[in-house]
Amino acid sequence: MVEPLSARVDCAGLLHSEHMGGDPRFLHSQALSEVEALCATAHWCYARGWVPATSGNFSLREPGPGIGRVLITPSGHDKGALQPDDLIEVDANGRVVAGRSKPSAETGLHRVLYRARPEARSILHVHTVWNTLISGHYAPRGYAPLQGYEILKGLAGVTTHAHLERVPILANTQTYDELCDEMAEALDEYPQAHGVLLSRHGLYTWGQSVAEARRHLEVLEFLFEVEMRRLTGGRMLEPDAIGADEARG
Ligand SMILES: [Zn+2]
Repeated sequence: MVEPLSARVDCAGLLHSEHMGGDPRFLHSQALSEVEALCATAHWCYARGWVPATSGNFSLREPGPGIGRVLITPSGHDKGALQPDDLIEVDANGRVVAGRSKPSAETGLHRVLYRARPEARSILHVHTVWNTLISGHYAPRGYAPLQGYEILKGLAGVTTHAHLERVPILANTQTYDELCDEMAEALDEYPQAHGVLLSRHGLYTWGQSVAEARRHLEVLEFLFEVEMRRLTGGRMLEPDAIGADEARG
């Protein structure tokens, strides 16, 4: 059980529970700003309609080398009401060590991502209209191409609008082990990517802080909308285009 956060903050900005008795549990030893930033980002995504019907998930990794412990949103939780003590703590082996309910069903994907992108400290996953549309449209190509837009410079390490951002797209499945393997392969194949799409499902993106992950999310979602508006001119997609990735098998 995560104890209630009757929290106080010390001079280093660390969050402490009045009940923890010196227990260095991850949730209670994190900089308050990062835990609060994760919850604020969940509320912000909810307000934008990016995590409808309890979808999506968010996590924050322990600082330092290796995956370490991860705080992740609980399965089926309303992200618009997320509070720090709702987060589930998972250890380096993927075992739940603290929390009041089950972690997200997609926790394994977060662990794969943290392993492949050791600089990442936070991962955000959302189900939006535009990432659902663009991932379905570009699935036959295997990635969504984004190029020629000034806002690409909001992605870490990108310095020009001429940058070609290739966002890999994985076929969706309910077999999470398979998805974890495919996620690992995609991250290896696209070492410069700032996000991964699951076809007609959603986007995963990450950053060295919650703020950076949130910036990447905003850049990518902005560009998904721009691209899909450009491609469709506001028209409905033809049914065969919508089903192209299914036909490919
Ligand atoms: Zn999802």
